[in-house]
Amino acid sequence: MSDDTKMNGGCLCGAVRYESTGDPFAVNHCHCHSCRRHTGAAVVTLAGFKTHQVTFSGDARKVYESSPGVSRAFCGKCGTPLTWEGDGGDLGPIIEFHISTFDNPDELVPTSHAFDPERISWFDVADSLPRYEGFAHDSPLLRHGPARLDPTN
Ligand SMILES: [Zn+2]
Ligand SMILES: [Zn+2]
Repeated sequence: MSDDTKMNGGCLCGAVRYESTGDPFAVNHCHCHSCRRHTGAAVVTLAGFKTHQVTFSGDARKVYESSPGVSRAFCGKCGTPLTWEGDGGDLGPIIEFHISTFDNPDELVPTSHAFDPERISWFDVADSLPRYEGFAHDSPLLRHGPARLDPTN
């Protein structure tokens, strides 16, 4: 991908659509309670962009403030969970999209797992990606690969 790569996505009913321009700064699996509760999924995968890389069209997304400064958006018609939105620290304001809302999520390959300690105990995947205690960019690295295959665990 490159600076002018455009990717499109939207909710299940098509009322909310979005377009991203350029590469995401990260694509990560997240095991945290809030992402799992927001989606009902065992794990979520998010592709993160600086807010200025993103434009929305169609119906305005509904926004729920899940904690101070952190919003999670969804479609007001069909309920599809769409985003995590908040302060990205050095990145400035960011929007992360739930990966399966993209029209072509195959192009967005995850590079790590965030909040591994909050992972549902029966769930893991057989990749060798790094697992972090919290956010990938600022928390301790716990291990590579799934817990069950780690002889030290
Ligand atoms: Zn919808
Ligand atoms: Zn999360």
